[in-house]
Amino acid sequence: MERQLDPNAFDESSEDKPPPASSRAPLWANVPEAQWDDWRWQLRHRLNTLEELQQFIRLTPEEIEGVRAQHRFRLDITPYFASLIDADDPACPLRRQVIPTSRELRGFEAAMVDSLNEEAHSPVPGLVHRYPDRVLMLVTTQCASYCRYCTRSRIVGEARAQFKRSNYDAQIDYIAHTPEVRDVLISGGDPLLLATHVLEDILRRLRQIPHVEILRVGSRVPVFLPQRVDDELVGMLRRYHPLWLNIHVNHPREMAPEAQRACARLADAGIPLGCQSVLLAGVNDCPNVMRELVHALVRARVRPYYLYQCDLVPGAGHFRTPVSRGIEIIESLRGHTSGFAVPTFVIDAPGGGGKVPVMPQYLVSQGDGRVVLRNFEGFITTYSEPTDYQRHDPARCPACRSRGSEGGQEGVAGLLAGEHVSIAPEGFEQVHQRLTRIRWQAVNLDAEDKEDEACPST
Ligand SMILES: *Cc1c(COP(=O)(O)O)cnc(C)c1O
Repeated sequence: MERQLDPNAFDESSEDKPPPASSRAPLWANVPEAQWDDWRWQLRHRLNTLEELQQFIRLTPEEIEGVRAQHRFRLDITPYFASLIDADDPACPLRRQVIPTSRELRGFEAAMVDSLNEEAHSPVPGLVHRYPDRVLMLVTTQCASYCRYCTRSRIVGEARAQFKRSNYDAQIDYIAHTPEVRDVLISGGDPLLLATHVLEDILRRLRQIPHVEILRVGSRVPVFLPQRVDDELVGMLRRYHPLWLNIHVNHPREMAPEAQRACARLADAGIPLGCQSVLLAGVNDCPNVMRELVHALVRARVRPYYLYQCDLVPGAGHFRTPVSRGIEIIESLRGHTSGFAVPTFVIDAPGGGGKVPVMPQYLVSQGDGRVVLRNFEGFITTYSEPTDYQRHDPARCPACRSRGSEGGQEGVAGLLAGEHVSIAPEGFEQVHQRLTRIRWQAVNLDAEDKEDEACPST
């Protein structure tokens, strides 16, 4: 059963016309509207046992084994999201994201518990300082529902391991004493599951730090628990602008009327919305599904931001796709649809290298004063470069001068800026000094050989 998206979805932001509601699973048909729309009711009635799930979903043997497994990652599904699941289709893309199967119990060779090496980048618990000017602040381990491929399953879902006020104090203290941090990304877990006053307290304290320019929240609440996006929450968030919010949606069917309405409320409060999707086998590893998804997102005023290659996290092995699948999806989007509907495909580098963008190649060749390009249709053209370009002069540029020489240019950007000639991996110098010595020895030996020849008697 395919749920059709309302083509006039954007009308739903106008408050006068109540939008249609998604149909509920029969199990909850008699729950009064007021309870169904109460996010606390939704949380209290989450499904997490075999018996509950089997009340309306025909589970496969693989799913039954997954749900029964002793040490699996936490299972919880809001009644709202469970109602979007196709109870009769084991391949339902929403079902695959939240119902465990025996396949997640299987390990795979490349798996790593903390594949992004976040812990090595944590100056205080729950704060990840990986990039020069921004930090990731984990404020809770709880989510409204749990994604089977969770990249932070090492901490997420643990009922006992919660972040406390003292953790927030230490995180905020680090940020306050680290003036280069201008962007704080609040995540978890799902920050929108915190009580409004607790989240507000964090936002208020961050806002008091002069060098913190923007706040960002990462949340899947608009998808799993759209009831939470109520006037109280939105009214609070809008007091802390500039505040950006990234949601996480993987399949167009997740953009149900309720999720659209939650996004409209946030967008109406002036909160720029982005979406981070994960490329998942059997869920969205299809160019046409991805096109439907990005179109549903931009209709809801959500800009597709990142498409992630699935991390090397235990339990997620069966969701992984070849990297080439992601490149193919970007190839099918770029040029074929609105530019702002195309996310950046990234691989979050195992070992803590950060996000690495990967994309199709459009630069076919280059020569003296000319580059050869191909477009999305396969049309090949040339662009002639100027012959009289006056090189940018950092000494006469106020922006360059005010940035000073604090080592902001590193890596390949530093090579292009002329700050270094080369970058060498660790140990490179020792190895190459050794090679040099050997070569010199060889030359000297040659010389000795020659002497030998010249003087055969010695
Ligand atoms: C993804 C991420 C960020 C934010 O990266 P952007 O590319 O700026 O969205 C910051 N810190 C960490 C540790 C991250 O993983």
